[in-house]
Amino acid sequence: MLRNFPSAAADLLKWTWPEIEPYYEDLQERSLNEDNIHEWLKDWSNLSRHVLEIQCRLEVLTTVDTTDTESEEAYRKFFDEIFPNMQASENKLKQKMLTSELKPKGFEVSLRNMRAEADLFREDNLSLLSNEQKTLLEYDKIMGAQTVQWEGEERTISQMYPLQLEKDRAKREKAYRLVIAREFADFEALGELWSKVMPMRKQIAANAGIADYRSYMWQQKLRFDYTPEDALSFHRAIEEVVVPATARVRERRCKRLGIDSVRPWDTEVDPFGSEPIRPFKTMDELNAGIKSIFDRVDFELGRRYQIMIDEGLLDLENRKGKAPGGYCTIFPVSHRPFIFMNSVGTHADVQTLLHEGGHSFHIFETADIELFHNTNTPMEFNEVASMAMEFLASRYLLDSGMYTEAEAARVQIEFLETNLIFWPYMAVMDAFQHWIYENHEKATDPVMCNEQWSRMFDRYMVGLDWSGLEQYKATRWQRVLHIYKVPFYMVEYGLAQLGAAQVWANSLSDYDAAVKAYRRALSLGSTVTLPELFQAANAKFAFDAPTLKRSVDLMEQTIEELENKL
Ligand SMILES: [Zn+2]
Repeated sequence: MLRNFPSAAADLLKWTWPEIEPYYEDLQERSLNEDNIHEWLKDWSNLSRHVLEIQCRLEVLTTVDTTDTESEEAYRKFFDEIFPNMQASENKLKQKMLTSELKPKGFEVSLRNMRAEADLFREDNLSLLSNEQKTLLEYDKIMGAQTVQWEGEERTISQMYPLQLEKDRAKREKAYRLVIAREFADFEALGELWSKVMPMRKQIAANAGIADYRSYMWQQKLRFDYTPEDALSFHRAIEEVVVPATARVRERRCKRLGIDSVRPWDTEVDPFGSEPIRPFKTMDELNAGIKSIFDRVDFELGRRYQIMIDEGLLDLENRKGKAPGGYCTIFPVSHRPFIFMNSVGTHADVQTLLHEGGHSFHIFETADIELFHNTNTPMEFNEVASMAMEFLASRYLLDSGMYTEAEAARVQIEFLETNLIFWPYMAVMDAFQHWIYENHEKATDPVMCNEQWSRMFDRYMVGLDWSGLEQYKATRWQRVLHIYKVPFYMVEYGLAQLGAAQVWANSLSDYDAAVKAYRRALSLGSTVTLPELFQAANAKFAFDAPTLKRSVDLMEQTIEELENKL
């Protein structure tokens, strides 16, 4: 057996496909039986980890320094030469595993996922799927070309966003109206694109022998532990218990801002009207503050954050030449996480780091799982790891030394209100997509989509005053990138948020027990089903109004208590 992988990261990055291929061939050629299957899976895991390590390291290198042309070239080469071959070889090994009919212990969930992927695979769909992606490139083009004239200057839509944070309400309104009018002008172009993509999706499902595109996506997203009907129940529960709470969130916003109704240009501005919070100035201050929070959440987690500091696994500050955004990725060979961010000294940076910190602890906790396939945790739970950490950390913001008591209260109120507002927002997008693929023909017509979107928007997004702007509101679905490019993405976050809120509720009665259960659940990787992961965290994988209501009540009650500290 070939077991000598390049050991140094630098050597690994020079690996070429002709050097990697023999490892896949070796695995492909071995005959499998009960006695050697575990060894075979271990060798496969080891190989997959090494190839993925190349991809992740190159992602990091190219984002921390966008001027590093050597890494950029290596990354491009990886996707041209290694990635497609690796995928084809990985697929062949999956086939080999399935046809062996062996059922190794502890591999049940991974086997179920492999079977579903194999069942869905159709040669005919390869060109159709790539055609769909190519067609959708038009979406970015249309969006990217949108600019407006503001104070004599051409500005992109993203460049207009900061104006929504201005205290001057008239200025916000003017900027907002300018932007939505420009966006509305592309209704026809985006509608045409929509009508092109919808028939492709119908055909993709049909080719796979599946009745409708929603069922196709359900299987593609490996959603075995809940059904479309469960998602619909979740929307109904949100309408019943969260929507009234968000009406109260918006009433408070009116009071804080001293306005009669929340117009679309009043949703982003700081409702407390005070000076912006600056929790830290240097990265050392940020690291010290975050470390002290994690130390209090759990001593071992604090120790792990120190490992990330010591081993250079954090690139937090914004600087010239860095890619935008933030992420947490994995170095699979060493089982280490890496966090990338663009901090500029705001509270949002702290919040993001707490979130990504949760993801990084998930990677640490699964380091002892031998088989790589068993660490492929579903998103519905990955986001519990990160969101629960935001909740668990909230009580220690004050102790971190980064906030005054009033500031800590203010950011916690904002955090809880943002969580409340998220559920109905997610529900509109998700319910709308259920409608689309339940009414595939009708929903191919963008005008019909406008009608349905308006109806659903009014149902879930209460307390927002769009009067006089109805025609703009009706086309807002076109602004949701996921609806075009990543169908059915988003409900995962809504479900995870309910899991995270339950972990938080547990922590209020017994903090240490809640953290212990959280860590135990993280350490399971994907060896058990989604409901079992939630259960291990002492939470229920739920869609029902009573479970949701307990979380919503607790959030509202906490907001009320925090308001006294302002
Ligand atoms: Zn996340």
